[in-house]
Amino acid sequence: MSFKSLHLINPIIRAVTEAGYSKPTEIQYSVIPHILAGKDIIGCGQTGTGKTAAFAMPILQLLKKYTPDHNEIRTLILTPTRELAIQIEENLRIYSKYLPLSQLSVYGGVSTGSQLAALRKRVDILVATPGRLLDLAGQRHIDLSKIEVLVLDEADRMLDMGFINDVNKILRMIPQKRQTLFFSATMPVDIRKFAKTMLQNPVEVTV
Ligand code: AMP
Repeated sequence: MSFKSLHLINPIIRAVTEAGYSKPTEIQYSVIPHILAGKDIIGCGQTGTGKTAAFAMPILQLLKKYTPDHNEIRTLILTPTRELAIQIEENLRIYSKYLPLSQLSVYGGVSTGSQLAALRKRVDILVATPGRLLDLAGQRHIDLSKIEVLVLDEADRMLDMGFINDVNKILRMIPQKRQTLFFSATMPVDIRKFAKTMLQNPVEVTV
């Protein structure tokens, strides 16, 4: 099984090959065709499985397809911690090396200055922790009304950390008509219920 057989485009395959990836991991093989087909996903998978690239590569490809002149944030990736936000942004930067797309992460625990400056430039994909995102959106520094793809990463940790109300507030700020990719390391009843509130006919994948 190769990246090419998943119908990923050459600029992405070239970037990940240069990063040392030779073939897709199991989760990538399982979810990438569904994401490219526009499906919602409920994915049960731990960190370390290649989960980030499993959603990041097809999202870059979907955004590439539409690329008109625009200045709106089109993908939002919600993640529970600053460390994860930074890591996802770094991965996106590697995978988008040969694409005209840009990514930014915003997270709490640091001053907003440099994040505000970065938000004045074009951002296609925003990676955010819920609290800081709500602050910046509440102050009109971030417009979430043009989001086409929403990713919830490590949803179980997000709930454990008490972010459920914040996530629900964010959901009210983004379009209902969108693609949603929901990932969690564990899938107990409360997480599944939470997922149901935001997914439409999801494809379920466990690795
Ligand atoms: P993640 O589960 O997203 O935290 O990824 C775990 C690690 O696997 C990261 O260091 C990725 O750079 C790496 N990785 C992701 N996909 C692949 C792949 N197809 N081949 C080799 N390494 C990969």
